[in-house]
Amino acid sequence: MALKHETPLLDQLESGPWPSFVTGLKRLAESEGKQYAPMMQDLLGQLEYSYKTRKGFWKGGTVGVRGYGGGVIPRFSEVADKYPESSEFHTLRVQPPAGMHYDTKTLRTLCDIWEEHGSGLIAFHGQSGDIMFQGATTESTQAAFDALNEIGFDLGGAGAAVRTSMSCVGGARCEQSCFNEQKAHRMMINATLDDMHRPSLPYKFKFKFSGCANDCVNASHRSDFAVLGTWRDDIKVDQDKFKQYIAERGRKEINDQVVNMCPTRALSINDDDTLDVDNKSCVKCMHCINVLTKALSPGDDKGVTILMGGKRTLKIGDLMGSVIVPFKKLETEEDFEELVELGEACIEFFAENALEHERIGEMIERIGLVNFLEGVGLEVDPNMISHPRTSSYVRTDGWDEEVAKWEARKGVAAE
Ligand code: SF4
Repeated sequence: MALKHETPLLDQLESGPWPSFVTGLKRLAESEGKQYAPMMQDLLGQLEYSYKTRKGFWKGGTVGVRGYGGGVIPRFSEVADKYPESSEFHTLRVQPPAGMHYDTKTLRTLCDIWEEHGSGLIAFHGQSGDIMFQGATTESTQAAFDALNEIGFDLGGAGAAVRTSMSCVGGARCEQSCFNEQKAHRMMINATLDDMHRPSLPYKFKFKFSGCANDCVNASHRSDFAVLGTWRDDIKVDQDKFKQYIAERGRKEINDQVVNMCPTRALSINDDDTLDVDNKSCVKCMHCINVLTKALSPGDDKGVTILMGGKRTLKIGDLMGSVIVPFKKLETEEDFEELVELGEACIEFFAENALEHERIGEMIERIGLVNFLEGVGLEVDPNMISHPRTSSYVRTDGWDEEVAKWEARKGVAAE
């Protein structure tokens, strides 16, 4: 089927070296006999018109499915008179499986459902983790949702609600994984699902789970509640493999690319080409492990660090998450339940104390981290501060006594 509208500006986007979304849109618009082709024809027309006028012509509204207060992003066209077939182009946000593990049969079924009820256009995945089924009419939204629900998929979050969470691919594909990301993700979302489907919070709230500090799902700076895998014993070193790296790449390269790039200078190469790690200084940044994958790996005493309030960009500027739990084991059922309880406590505190349109990071800046920790029942821990003696916000007189008290509480023998 030939294109209905001329698209000279969009055509330019196809001329670069990378695959263009325009090609995909055209393929859908040109599909013979498909119910969505007329919609995609007019969508291309409207998009070209937007490029020409440098204006967006989508406005919101209210569209939903039975029993849910969110999960559908309504899009109504303001130029429907010119492009009637794409006058409604709503998006269904759908939760992916934790870790985004699909089999091809499921992917094909998802595509079939969207070809039947929507535009055929699907984005895997949005920054909140959702599968974005883009291009439904108001009439077809319920039917599309019913079909997705039938095969076990559920809507995600939109608006002032708990958002669809994300977890990295995890232990199934990655040897650096330090905890069961999928389990933590699933348990947390199952417990907070009501706050996802019925938006009633001051603003959005995102959970993200990364198996190590490489943070493949951007948890530390793009989620309100970030769970990052880490370890607290020593990095594991296979000295034979390390010697092999030295033999293959030479001392200079390993020095330049690994040893000298350790942020805390925790690494040194011995005369016999073995590696020395000052584990007390290591901040578990993952750099050396990433470069020397065969020789180095995370320790055995694994767990998670929990950070709160990361986001770029907030109204008050960019924030990385603040550590609220320096280390937590996440092995037993009880450990996972404690994590979920903390998540619920944070949401409750956020719901009661945040201002309208204020993310939890901004709320913590406003009320102070100490008040927040007290509010959710967490104790201040010296490990939360990376350089206590250089931070002007930390009084250091009496600090040694505080550390002694903390050690006594934790049962650590004072040195
Ligand atoms: Fe240094 Fe990072 Fe390796 Fe630790 S993980 S030794 S901080 S490079």
